[in-house]
Amino acid sequence: MPELPEVRAHAERLDRDLASTTLARFTALSFTALKTYAPAPESAVGAPLAHVGQRGKHILLDFGTATFVVHLMQGGRLRPDPKKAAKPRGGVARWELDDGSALLLTEAGTERKAGVWVIDGDPEASDPLLGLGPEADGVTATELLGLLHEHPSRLHGFLRDQRVMSGLGRRLANEVCHRARLSPFAATKRMGADDAARLAEAVGACVAESLAFERGRDDMSSSKERPGAVHHRKGQECPDCGDVVRTVEYRSYEVAYCASCQTGGKVLADNTTSKFLK
Ligand SMILES: [Zn+2]
Repeated sequence: MPELPEVRAHAERLDRDLASTTLARFTALSFTALKTYAPAPESAVGAPLAHVGQRGKHILLDFGTATFVVHLMQGGRLRPDPKKAAKPRGGVARWELDDGSALLLTEAGTERKAGVWVIDGDPEASDPLLGLGPEADGVTATELLGLLHEHPSRLHGFLRDQRVMSGLGRRLANEVCHRARLSPFAATKRMGADDAARLAEAVGACVAESLAFERGRDDMSSSKERPGAVHHRKGQECPDCGDVVRTVEYRSYEVAYCASCQTGGKVLADNTTSKFLK
């Protein structure tokens, strides 16, 4: 799933490319596209696109009178749409602009989770942004220490909880734990100031690295292209110590880690319940 760096860099690209256009028409192409009833998307027709922004894993198309909040979820993409086909493959929604260009939201696969919320007023005051934690790369070590204790959980799940801080997903949670030399299953309530400082550094560095990578591209990367040490690198050598990258497998994803770097050499059980976990 695109995470904070991919979404932010993409919002920057769209903001640059679509500056000073006006909404001519919005079309929901699938019946699950629109997640809100009011205001109607037509309320933004005729309004200039003020800004394309990012919040957590969401892209915000701010037309002043209304903001379209777009969540790409796993397989969604929001791209220029020169063809404007009547039934584009995986089509979810389309924004046609007054200069003849268009933006198309598509979603690969059959999950039908990508969607669009239309918000008037402050988008932070409504779903899906309401209750989101601060942007992950803006959280200080001191703030992070407080959050670790306020939200007792395992570290990997903590990092992915969008209400705690927003923008990190499975890939960055893996990379952050590795960079911070912490077990993905460490109990957050037992973590101290040193851990929080390492974590804050790791979040900042991992986000910055991916952001630099994304900003050097013309379109959003695929998950396999993204930089990292452990994510999707099971069986390969840890770039820091040469040990093998291991995983704990779940039904739909895996937690990747290096035992030498992160767990004092302890190999975690493949099916996590609790017995191995520290
Ligand atoms: Zn290692």
